[in-house]
Amino acid sequence: MKNLWQIAQKINTDHCLILFDEPMKEHTTFKIGGPADLFIRPRSISALEEVVELLKIENVPFFILGSGANILVGDRGVRGAVIDTSLLSSIMHLKREERIDPVLLYAECGVRLMTLCEEAQICGLSGLENFYGMPGSLGGSVYMNARCYEDDIATHIQDLTIIDNQGRLKIISACAQSWSYKRSPFMRGGELESLIICAASFRLIPDDPEKIAERMRLCMRDRMQKRHFNFPSAGSMFKNNHDFGKPTGKILDELGLRNYRIGDAAISPWHANIFVNIGKASARDMRKLIEYAQKVVYDATGFCIEPEVLFIGEF
Ligand SMILES: Cc1cc2nc3c(=O)[nH]c(=O)nc-3n(C[C@H](O)[C@H](O)[C@H](O)COP(=O)(O)OP(=O)(O)OC[C@H]3O[C@@H](n4cnc5c(N)ncnc54)[C@H](O)[C@@H]3O)c2cc1C
Repeated sequence: MKNLWQIAQKINTDHCLILFDEPMKEHTTFKIGGPADLFIRPRSISALEEVVELLKIENVPFFILGSGANILVGDRGVRGAVIDTSLLSSIMHLKREERIDPVLLYAECGVRLMTLCEEAQICGLSGLENFYGMPGSLGGSVYMNARCYEDDIATHIQDLTIIDNQGRLKIISACAQSWSYKRSPFMRGGELESLIICAASFRLIPDDPEKIAERMRLCMRDRMQKRHFNFPSAGSMFKNNHDFGKPTGKILDELGLRNYRIGDAAISPWHANIFVNIGKASARDMRKLIEYAQKVVYDATGFCIEPEVLFIGEF
């Protein structure tokens, strides 16, 4: 890899904010993670295109960051560049012909799902209520095919704007791609592997804003009751698997893992599938805790539980 400092000089700072050795713990909901060599925050989709093109030409590996709500970043940080999408946050109505449903709501990848849900509610558009309260950006939620209350985000997407392998912006139909439980075509092995999600439009149905708001309140209340926000976490640590006959959280719970801790990395006292940082947890301790839980479950049941949280960078 060439000298990152020299490469960074080629980035237009009117188009992107640039930082060196930026602590990733400031950008993850776990509040864990060492420094990213080069941290780039594009101010527009065209700046994102520009910077991706440059990094590819210069052979610099890069990681696309949404809200950091589903990642565990290693204590030694991330080599190469992290591209932070948080400023790519426009939302726009694409009304189809009057009185014809559904309405399309277009949003860029850095929009927080919470904001998108609130915008839809204000406009009296229903469909995204189940996702209210889930931390994360649009891009990360599409990449993860986020799922809340048995509702997959992919089922609401009409089309996606992506940067293809040639660096071109392209609009593709979402239903032409393969999606499944917590899997998207952007993941390893998928037909859109490693491509960048720039924006998406969602099919929504007009409804009474007050009714939409009430459904959103119920989702948020449920999360608060489950104490999702009491400590820094990345939500559920492991995926569920139908073959196990019960949710992974219940398996962990029955094995007495609630409250188990290694250093400041702990299994939540309220939900055994939520792993939390109760102080200054290191990525190393969190990873040890994950491996410990996997071993306990395997020894007791023979099941291999698969993390949903992604491991990023050097541990
Ligand atoms: C308290 C709490 C509760 C949660 N509850 C749920 C829940 O109910 N259901 C659920 O599914 N998840 C849940 N999560 C996990 C998390 O909120 C979701 O997975 C969310 O979709 C992650 O989005 P993000 O923007 O934070 O992604 P990040 O963590 O930033 O990134 C995740 C992956 O997406 C990729 N990515 C991000 N943006 C782009 C882009 N523009 N183009 C291409 N790739 C991109 C990243 O490179 C990375 O590989 C919860 C998390 C927390 C902290």
